[in-house]
Amino acid sequence: MEKRVIRKETLAGIVGELAGKMRVCAPMKAEDEVLFRVLEAGEKPLIEFANAKNAPKNFLFPRTETLLKFTRTGKGMVFAGDQKDGGETLLFGVRPCDARSFTLLDMLFDQEKYRDPYYLDKREKTTVVALGCVRPPYTTCFCTSVGGAPLSSEGVDILLTDLGETYLAEFLTPKGEALREAFGGTPAGEAEEKQKETIATKAADQISSRIPAKEIKPILDARFEDPFWNTLHQKCLACGTCTYLCPTCHCFDISDEVKRADGIRIRNWDSCMFPMFTKETSGHNPRPSQKERWRQRVMHKFRYYVDNFGAIACVGCGRCVMACPVNLDIRKIVADIAKL
Ligand code: SF4
Ligand code: SF4
Repeated sequence: MEKRVIRKETLAGIVGELAGKMRVCAPMKAEDEVLFRVLEAGEKPLIEFANAKNAPKNFLFPRTETLLKFTRTGKGMVFAGDQKDGGETLLFGVRPCDARSFTLLDMLFDQEKYRDPYYLDKREKTTVVALGCVRPPYTTCFCTSVGGAPLSSEGVDILLTDLGETYLAEFLTPKGEALREAFGGTPAGEAEEKQKETIATKAADQISSRIPAKEIKPILDARFEDPFWNTLHQKCLACGTCTYLCPTCHCFDISDEVKRADGIRIRNWDSCMFPMFTKETSGHNPRPSQKERWRQRVMHKFRYYVDNFGAIACVGCGRCVMACPVNLDIRKIVADIAKL
């Protein structure tokens, strides 16, 4: 694995130049928010920012995606094949928690019994460049409680660490290596590596929000019917904001839209917070109230994902904590469960 030192003032220009050669998605200012979007050729991305409001999962698992097109003819249906998004993509400025979310999504979309070609096509063509959190941006960050770290390289192809005047660039995978020339710089030495280690330890210490996320699985196994679930959900508005902003939430719904003889099959993000989520055609809903829906959200992230894949389906980004309009805080919920 090669490590190089890049001068700080050159980084945005390097990415802007790459945007003229391939699809580059990066955090950009959008009124009062920072949002990931596709850059124009030469456009420079934000380098100094906390984190984007939207998780970058949208570029691998779009909010709305056409799966196939079809036409009804006198001789039956004619299918136009799937609508995979092509093209090499550079996903720049991803925070390590969000990069880690890709490895959790891989577990679901890339299983032996089920491989999702739409997700995998984009995943294979995407190079992830992460900007390490040398100063963890929010008091709501809790990546260290769920297996992550401010300078984690999980799910990352190129990891950039701010050393002050320069960036240490680590080209971690063959996809990352393929862009080494484009990033330029000079070879890094032991001094930079040591500096990074010190920064990594300091940054992890700065994550003050710590929750017993890894301890609640046996409690959840035993407490499906606990009275705890009767009150937890009461102020939830079922708006779905928490799930739509979450980098690991991945539930979707598939529907057909038809106009005369032509139609498309699309999949859209869905949310376990919505009353219609598990409503069956008969009218029966096995999760009839927000109580069952909130229990599902907690169980899915901290129990079922652990059962299925050996990992907690939360990377501790804190988006759901910051954006919930009624201040429902997953950290407090986990802490309360640990006391049951
Ligand atoms: S963001 Fe808050 S109010 Fe909205 S669905 Fe999630 S928990 Fe409920
Ligand atoms: S559950 Fe909340 S803190 Fe955890 S990954 Fe999702 S949005 Fe981030």
